Amino acid sequence: MERIYNFSAGPAMLPQEVLEQARDELLDWHGCGMSVMEMTHRGKDFSAIIAQAEADLRELLNIPANYKVLFLQGGATMQFAQVPLNLLAGRSADYLVTGAWSKKAFKEARKVGSARLVATTEASNFTRLPDKTEISLDPDAAYLHVCTNETVHGVEMHDVTTLGASVPLVADMSSHILSRPVDVGQYGLIYGGAQKNVGQAGLTLVIVREDLLGRAPANLPTMLDYAVQAEHGSMLNTPPTYSIYIAGLVFQWLKGRGGLAAMERINIAKAKLLYQAIDASGLYHNPVDPACRSRMNVPFTLNNPELDDIFVAEAKKQNIVSIKGHKMVGGMRASIYNAMPLEGVQALADFMQDFERRHG
Ligand SMILES: *Cc1c(COP(=O)(O)O)cnc(C)c1O
Repeated sequence: MERIYNFSAGPAMLPQEVLEQARDELLDWHGCGMSVMEMTHRGKDFSAIIAQAEADLRELLNIPANYKVLFLQGGATMQFAQVPLNLLAGRSADYLVTGAWSKKAFKEARKVGSARLVATTEASNFTRLPDKTEISLDPDAAYLHVCTNETVHGVEMHDVTTLGASVPLVADMSSHILSRPVDVGQYGLIYGGAQKNVGQAGLTLVIVREDLLGRAPANLPTMLDYAVQAEHGSMLNTPPTYSIYIAGLVFQWLKGRGGLAAMERINIAKAKLLYQAIDASGLYHNPVDPACRSRMNVPFTLNNPELDDIFVAEAKKQNIVSIKGHKMVGGMRASIYNAMPLEGVQALADFMQDFERRHG
């Protein structure tokens, strides 16, 4: 069996050790004679799995005690609606639009209630972050929503304190959660779908400060109410048990590798290698302001788009797959989450150099 280098933006690569452990435990989890897939979520075995997953996530992110961790479903896209449904409480929220995902979040919030655009960088094709002078915050907003890593446009917010938000900060961290340490205390709520950097699809993480719970209107459907989900330990109904189990294995894997500070060092090295390969070339181009380039999603174009298909086909022969860019941006995109080893990024950089020599 040969594993390939999968640069997909999501669902994305998982650590091989995690897949191997899942395989080894597939038919018989810890001697209980059944698979995690077959277990009741109310039994002591699954209770131990979800409790350990939460404890490990809390340890990795150093989550303060006054935050709840929720294991939900519906993806980050559900959070685009669920956040305003729970937190607006008849007020308006501020939205910063820095790429495709925060734009979607803003649009969805406006369906649910009142949302105000505080700044957008769309006129610059989402290749930079706005500076503080461009942003006008509402001091009475219910919250300020940001996407701290724009997966399509490859724009990452490296420091949210520069926003100067006085209201709770809500962050879509789908594509860079667990890639670096985060000061959870700077946020009112953090959310993310699992299929990028946490585990497999079907699970959505929500980390929410307790004082933000209980603001939902009485007519909010029970399933959507954070406070009710928190009260029931994310088990109001059947949770995505196997996805939680896989996320738990990933948390263990991250702890074994030295935690998020260690992951950050590797991720910085990986990103540096790839951006240097792009910047040093005459064929490849990344349009994002270097101050906010993403360490996780690296879009780049070829100066001759006719080479795109050839690039993809030749890359595949080198075991480099899912490298084609999002249609909104074009060109290529390399997603280099935690599970992508440095050797994978090196293989891509080497291939890019070789391709340029032959076609550039
Ligand atoms: C992938 C992604 C989403 C959408 O996630 P789903 O889980 O498919 O709903 C939202 N925001 C960001 C930043 C993403 O990368």
